[in-house]
Order: sequence, then C-alpha cells, then structure tokens
Amino acid sequence: MERDIYDEDHEAFRDVVKEFVKRYVTNEAIARWDAEGEIDRDTMKAAGESGLIGLSVPEEFGGAGMLQDYRFRAIVMEEVISAGSGSLAGAFGIQDDLAVPYLVHMGTQEQKEKWLPGMATGEVIGALAMTEPGAGSDLRGIKTTAKKVDGGYIVNGAKTFISSGKTADLVVTFVKTGEGNRPDAFSLLLIENGMDGFDHGKKLHKMGFHGHDTAELSFSDVFVPEENLISGREGMGFVQLMMNLPLERMSIGVAGAAAAQAALDWTLAYTKDREAFGERIADFQNTRFRLADMSASVEALWAYTDRVMRAYAGKKLSAEEAAKYKFWATEREWEVLDLGVQLHGGYGYITEYPIARAFLDARVHRIYGGTNEIMREIVGRDLAGKR
Ligand SMILES: Cc1cc2nc3c(=O)[nH]c(=O)nc-3n(C[C@H](O)[C@H](O)[C@H](O)COP(=O)(O)OP(=O)(O)OC[C@H]3O[C@@H](n4cnc5c(N)ncnc54)[C@H](O)[C@@H]3O)c2cc1C
Repeated sequence: MERDIYDEDHEAFRDVVKEFVKRYVTNEAIARWDAEGEIDRDTMKAAGESGLIGLSVPEEFGGAGMLQDYRFRAIVMEEVISAGSGSLAGAFGIQDDLAVPYLVHMGTQEQKEKWLPGMATGEVIGALAMTEPGAGSDLRGIKTTAKKVDGGYIVNGAKTFISSGKTADLVVTFVKTGEGNRPDAFSLLLIENGMDGFDHGKKLHKMGFHGHDTAELSFSDVFVPEENLISGREGMGFVQLMMNLPLERMSIGVAGAAAAQAALDWTLAYTKDREAFGERIADFQNTRFRLADMSASVEALWAYTDRVMRAYAGKKLSAEEAAKYKFWATEREWEVLDLGVQLHGGYGYITEYPIARAFLDARVHRIYGGTNEIMREIVGRDLAGKR
C-alpha cells in the first residue's frame, strides 16, 4: 500500500538523500567503514553539507529546524539502509536523535551557540553516554560521579557500549551529582574530547554495525566547567534522559522498519533471479508464502511507524507508546530479516550481501535504547496500573 505520510517537500528531500547515497554510500565506502570500524569525518561533513544531519538544529544555528517532523529523518534512514549501510544510518541517528536533542531542547543559549553549528555541519560529532559496565537497564545504578568544585565538576568513572564513542568530540554524559539514587541525584554534563583525564578507551568488536564505532570511555579526575552542565541546572539529568527517550526509541523502530523494507526488496530481487530445479526460487510455493509474510509485516510496520511519527509531530508520543512501538517494530524487523536470510540460502550468511549485514545489525535493535524486556515492563506496568 502506498504510504500517505510524505508531501512534496519530503520527496524533494528524498532526491537530495538519494544523490548523497549514490555518491558516498558506495560498496567501496561501506567496505572501508567496516574495515576501519568507523565512519570517516569527511563523510560526516559531506552529510552536513547536504543537509542530512542536524535536521532538528534550529535554522539560526545552521540546521534545518525540523523540530518535531521526524519524516525527514525517516527518509534518511530509508535511503541509507536500503543502500546497505546500517552503520552510516546508525552514525547519523546518534548525532541527530541521541546527542543533538539535548542541546536543542535543553541546552543553554551559550551551549547552543557553541556546539550546534558544528553538529549541523558534521564538524562536531556527538555521543550520549549513559551505560556503564555495571549499569545498563538500571540507570540509577551508575557509579560515575561528578563532584562539585569551584567553577565546575571533577568527573570520575567509566562508560561502556557508547556509540560514536571513539570519534565523538562531545559526549553528553550521565553522571551522579548527588547521593543515593533519587531522580534528582543525576545530571548531564558535556564532556569534550581533549579534556585532561578523558580517555576514549578501546573500540568494541561487535556482531554487527561494523562500520560504526562503539567504545568504552573513562574519566579520571576530569575537570568539567560548570557551563557544560546541560540546561545549567544540577539534578535534572534523569528527567532530561526521560524526556528524550521516546525519540530515541522511535528512531530505533524506524530504523527497524527501514531495514525490513530493504530486506523485502533485496529478497524479492534475489528470489526472482536465482534458480534451482529449473525454476526461479520465487516460483516455489514456500517462497511465495514467505514473501507474502514478509510483505504483510512490512505493511504493518509502516502503518504503525507512520502513526507513531504523526503522534510525535503532535507532541503526543508518550514514553509508553514509544516503548510499545520499539519492541514491536524491532521484533517484526527481526522476523522479516530472518526470512530474508533464509530465502537467500548460503548467500544470506555471507556478509558481502547486504541482507547478511542487515541481519547482524538488527540484533542489537532489541537490546539497545532499552532492552525489549524493559520496553514490555514499561508498557505492562502502565496497562496494569502498577505504580
Ligand atoms: C552496539 C551497542 C550500542 C550501544 N550504544 C549505546 C550508547 O550510545 N549509549 C549508551 O548509553 N548505551 C549504549 N548501549 C548500551 C545499551 O543501551 C545497553 O546494553 C542496554 O540498555 C542493556 O543494558 P545492559 O547491557 O547493562 O544489560 P542488563 O541491564 O544487564 O540486562 C541483561 C538482561 O537482563 C534483562 N533485564 C534487566 N532488567 C530487567 C527487568 N527489570 N525485567 C526483566 N528483564 C530485565 C535485560 O532485558 C537483558 O535481557 C549500546 C549497546 C550496544 C550493544
């Protein structure tokens, strides 16, 4: 079914994205990013120049000013993922959905002026560091401390699994500024590359997303000036994280829908081309049934995704609705990709084929941004009326 969510402006933007993809998301570039374990800075800058990142950055700071219209971001994901680079889509997602929003929505005027122009051009790469070796789902169990001193904070601790962590210039970091684990014991600090005692640590070797860096970070007596406290208010970190989580979770679901669509397209092309027993793979009844299953899931994914993007545009996407969408979308994505791999036979397991890479990338969609168990917990608690 045709989707009715995009208008002329979106389609014109899609042409720009397609042009970018044709030029920069080549097989050679994908292989290079995978080998180097990161997206090179020139590509991020080219994306900035073409207007593919910094979409929610206000125009006065050099962005597109698309605060609540997620459709432009969705187009970027659809086109980049269908070109075979989940890693580049992931790098754009971290910039636009995990880092930039803390400055756009919660930054002080000085923080916006200092960082947003560079984030829109790709000269400043952002990351969000919440997870620690001992605390992921249970974020209030973090141990990284920020002790108030004259003019700022002294930060000590470690983070892990931080996307864009190796390449980041600016890390929105979740720290403890108070005692205990009450919501007001936490704050968000902007920690800059090059600050004394801040070490990007090692890149982690992942199952998928080989072209996008994920790193451990460590902080040893890092002095962070008080002007780097997000919103300038201590004790707001937990609330600030909660405010952005619906966007982060919607972003993962949209990536899942885009990957499922790409898997369907690749599998249709492959099964119509490949032959066995003198027939096209697509001519076997089992293949047609599986393609029908994949296609129905993709239709449902888009219907749900478009509804969620509309709710977000109307500022009506609640934490519970975003959590519900995230677990449902990423589980349909997983099923569709698994069917796609199967219909590719042995080639579906070879990472030269985009279906294999997308399958490996997809696995983490059910884990990060809050695991799908935690998503169900949020939804179930709300349904059951538990406090
Ligand atoms: C590739 C990658 C990129 C990432 N990027 C980032 C990033 O950029 N920034 C960042 O801060 N983090 C990032 N993460 C971390 C990610 O968000 C966490 O791994 C995730 O939230 C789970 O936390 P954990 O690994 O500590 O698992 P745990 O919390 O230890 O969970 C282990 C298992 O227990 C289950 N579980 C835990 N609590 C409950 C409960 N109450 N009820 C039922 N089941 C429960 C979980 O669902 C899971 O199955 C990334 C992770 C990966 C793998």
